[in-house]
Amino acid sequence: MIALFGGTFDPIHNGHLHVIKELLGSKRFEKIIVIPSGDPQLRAVPIASSKDRLAIVQLAIADLKLGDLVEVSDYEITKDEPSFAIDTVRYFKKIYPDQELSWIIGSDAYSKIDQWRESEALRQLISFIVIERPAVESSRGAGAGATKDQEDDDGYDSYGYEDIDALSISATDIREKLSKHESIADLTAQSVERYIIERNLYGSA
Ligand code: ATP
Repeated sequence: MIALFGGTFDPIHNGHLHVIKELLGSKRFEKIIVIPSGDPQLRAVPIASSKDRLAIVQLAIADLKLGDLVEVSDYEITKDEPSFAIDTVRYFKKIYPDQELSWIIGSDAYSKIDQWRESEALRQLISFIVIERPAVESSRGAGAGATKDQEDDDGYDSYGYEDIDALSISATDIREKLSKHESIADLTAQSVERYIIERNLYGSA
């Protein structure tokens, strides 16, 4: 199974890297493909440019030293039109026609999945690996009644919750700390912190 991990990654942080390491550690995945988004649909426009966000993701992933197990894709960032997950999934389905694909997503983002373009079609193409995020109200926490490896009415195994002791780190916290010139050394890779400060991203200088 190949897992796609999309996000704004503004910037990528240890919370994301922990997810990647834990899921690969489970040996269920052949590969994780990290896909920084172009223009997000459901939130404010990212603060760092797509070029910087991609560079930061590449640095952090290189630092993990996991070789071919993790790939970074510029598919969404180099697209001219706004990117939707459904387009990305169709693109990767063409590249890997014989592989099962899944989409890694935090419980916060999953609670808004019905707002995603063609969310039903998306569910037919992939399964979701939902990561419980601490201190974030999730659809499960809100009483949606989700259980592990939930099946839709049609029996399609559309999502499963993963409890991997996710870290309570968000990109928002990191941007706030940087704007106050506080250290983010414990929150992301050293190479990422260096890149951000050298280029004065997020008002860090
Ligand atoms: P922001 O604070 O700017 O909203 P974020 O930290 O949530 O950003 P994103 O790039 O929006 O990061 O997240 C990409 C994906 O990773 C989303 O599915 C999100 O739910 C998930 N994610 C983000 N942080 C964590 C974390 N600490 N643990 C597990 N999953 C996470």
